[in-house]
Amino acid sequence: MSVTSGFDVAARRAEFPLLTQSVHGQPLVYLDNAATTQKPLAVIEAIDAYYRQINSNVHRGAHQLADRATTAFEEARVLVAGFINSPAPEQLIFTRGTTESINIVAQCHLRPMLRQGDEILVSGLAHHSNIVPWQMVAEACGARVVPIPVLDTAELDMAAFRRLLGSRTRMVALEHVSNAMGTVHPVAEIIALAHAAGAAVLLDGAQSVAHLDVDVQALDADFYAFSGHKMYGPTGIGGLYGKRALLEAMPPWQGGGEMIETVSFERTTYAGLPYRFEAGTPHIAGAVGLGAAVRYLSGLDRAAMAAHEDAVLAHALELSQEMPGFKLIGRAAHKIAVLSFLLEGGHPHDVGTLLDRQGVAVRTGHHCAQPAMARFGIPGTVRASFALYNTLEDVERLFSALRKVQTFL
Ligand code: PMP
Repeated sequence: MSVTSGFDVAARRAEFPLLTQSVHGQPLVYLDNAATTQKPLAVIEAIDAYYRQINSNVHRGAHQLADRATTAFEEARVLVAGFINSPAPEQLIFTRGTTESINIVAQCHLRPMLRQGDEILVSGLAHHSNIVPWQMVAEACGARVVPIPVLDTAELDMAAFRRLLGSRTRMVALEHVSNAMGTVHPVAEIIALAHAAGAAVLLDGAQSVAHLDVDVQALDADFYAFSGHKMYGPTGIGGLYGKRALLEAMPPWQGGGEMIETVSFERTTYAGLPYRFEAGTPHIAGAVGLGAAVRYLSGLDRAAMAAHEDAVLAHALELSQEMPGFKLIGRAAHKIAVLSFLLEGGHPHDVGTLLDRQGVAVRTGHHCAQPAMARFGIPGTVRASFALYNTLEDVERLFSALRKVQTFL
């Protein structure tokens, strides 16, 4: 098995038990990592150990287990906050994931200040979860969601973005990396331009945290949203980072236990950061699992990992060029290892099913980015998305399976 640039992919694969199984009698090639990644033993075992040895509710028990659960939960926050270089752990709010994080910012940050005629600029490649929450607040306040146009390469049209930015722009919301096409946007430049125009920026980091080094302070992001399950952690847990002044100015998201300071029927006061936004019993085991995922990723040579993923993408691009009838959608100069494509004569769903029969798991359809599909005049694509444990052999399995698919079309 290949070792690229000092990254021992065989050793990494061995840490992911799910990858050893067969599907339809064929060894599994899992290429649906943009939807969700598989979990290393370190994460599975951390969750198992939490339930076997620590499980208790956090922040309120008088007993030893409650202390241990609270420590584990808050240690996870420190790890996850540190992973994106948040200046303080309390600026990292645990949420259900990217979707909830974006909804919190839309409802609690933007909505109270949004006025008739204001504009929210949103990426033309956006995932629905970075469109619909803005449409909901825009509709309630008489504001407008304005898409940032996309070039044929699946890069944002920066000249158009500069023209769209103006005194009406309250918020710029875009993905750091596109899930549909893999494009890595020039987010530092976009943030600087938005700030110069007086607008705040939310970055949807769902597709970036597992692949790129994210430094929210260096980026000067106002908000950063991400999901644990796309970075080798569990489902149902994710994060929202925000600048302290912005988070402190926001009203609570949900009301309930954990998010209060004092409650009376006359007057209730709210807790400070981060608890003000974490009503109810949190996903403690999820946070512990996400902490373990971050510890796992931090223990890797991330530069070597990124070089490996780039080599996997380069190999896929090379093989795609040799395949007649293969149409790549999304040719950004800077992209992660996501291959969105069409096969001549084959509906994406049929291609996906025929690949599955050969043990190759991909995603087909609009990838929750219908406007992006509309931009390219297509209903959907076949998407192979790679993770740190994918090999050059996986790429070869994909293309030999595609050649077989072509014989059925
Ligand atoms: N944004 C992007 C770019 C995504 O890829 C996804 C998940 N496909 C989301 C947002 C939503 O993430 P979640 O479903 O984990 O909230």
